[in-house]
Amino acid sequence: MNMLNIVLFGPPGAGKGTQSAKLIEKYQLVHLSTGDIFRANIKGGTELGNLAKSFMDQGQLVPDEVTIRMLESEADKSPDAKGYIFDGFPRTPAQAKALDNFLATKNTSITMMLALEVEEEELKKRLLLRGQDSGRPDDKDPAIIQKRIDVYRNETEPVRDYYQAQNKYTGIDGIGSIDDIFSRLCDAIRSIAN
Ligand code: AMP
Repeated sequence: MNMLNIVLFGPPGAGKGTQSAKLIEKYQLVHLSTGDIFRANIKGGTELGNLAKSFMDQGQLVPDEVTIRMLESEADKSPDAKGYIFDGFPRTPAQAKALDNFLATKNTSITMMLALEVEEEELKKRLLLRGQDSGRPDDKDPAIIQKRIDVYRNETEPVRDYYQAQNKYTGIDGIGSIDDIFSRLCDAIRSIAN
């Protein structure tokens, strides 16, 4: 079976969650957001949630080993998926390698990385706005927002090179209306996945 497996990439506040929701509906994919899974664990008061919270509240990455194991067990819950949208994962080159290995055991692979591009000032504006009603503590504090953007630049941006080396990277202008950005993503999927 030919799966459609998309890494939706971009800095915090780029619109990954918003666009994922639209993409899964249109393409019937399973949404795997590591941030959402961590937040569900925090809400449920699990051990994993407690561990993740200590990193998330500081704007730091949860350790690779924990994150990878969690992602794999979540993916295994939908073995019949037509494909996955990976949102907020992989965030380090080690996670990207682990994902390739994991998908290989399922006889599939990443189809493409779609990277939403938004400049830093706009990201900060969006995150602070979201913090007013998202209930996310990491969106409320400008210092934590800055930390997350710095972590993205230092630890996560190399993931782009990882997919670029596999010729799987496409940059998408992440500025504009939600629907305009969505149609850019759909255009890219149409031209690559066929
Ligand atoms: P997000 O919802 O994607 O903005 O993620 C919120 C927070 O969860 C991040 O700032 C990290 O602390 C943690 N997190 C989410 N995904 C990952 C990941 N793939 N690797 C490590 N930490 C993650």
